[in-house]
Amino acid sequence: MNALSRIKMIGLTGGIASGQTTVAQLLAAKGAQVIHGDVIARQVVEPGSVVLDQLVQAFGARILTADNRLDRSYLGQLVFADPALKRKLDQLIRPALRAELCNQIQIARWRACGSQTPVVVVDAALIFEWHSRQFFDRIVVVYTTDEVRLNRLMARDQLSQPAALQRISAQLPLSVKADLADDVIDNSNGLELTQQQVDYFWRRL
Ligand code: ATP
Repeated sequence: MNALSRIKMIGLTGGIASGQTTVAQLLAAKGAQVIHGDVIARQVVEPGSVVLDQLVQAFGARILTADNRLDRSYLGQLVFADPALKRKLDQLIRPALRAELCNQIQIARWRACGSQTPVVVVDAALIFEWHSRQFFDRIVVVYTTDEVRLNRLMARDQLSQPAALQRISAQLPLSVKADLADDVIDNSNGLELTQQQVDYFWRRL
């Protein structure tokens, strides 16, 4: 077996504000190479990028801030209120996102090869929605109850309850994702309990 084939590929997913970033940080502290889908999603729409030009053509210059960056919050309001616009956004953004994700996975795999913990974690909200589970050895879903998630989302993003509910309902229900997962980490309670579950997952890995 060569070193590359020993690497475990973990898909880390969940729902908006369920705690993926939090769990990804705990896995990074264990020594995993972690790739954040959120960070890539920001990179591909940097000023000057082809994707940002395409978005402006599709949605108009109203989606730009005064300093010509993507106004993510305004674009979010537009697309979460209209499924056709959401589909349009997905069509424009997905190819670049996939290409950059593949690029970063290759780099992370080479890094993992030389490390004592050959594990690559891809933290991405849409693993199931994008039918990507075949790329991973295990899929971990970070779960929280809907009530906890709603409260955390409203507090983190300063959203009203209807706006937070709209974002939650635009995704597959978290209970469906949990049923599809190989492993579930329940992040509904304090961080200490989440840490214990991450420790257990890591030992079994
Ligand atoms: P998104 O996919 O929307 O970016 P996420 O799944 O990465 O979200 P986090 O950003 O990790 O979720 O967590 C959402 C919010 O809940 C954050 O403000 C975070 O600090 C808080 N949080 C996460 N886990 C816990 C916990 N166990 N106890 C209390 N607060 C938590």
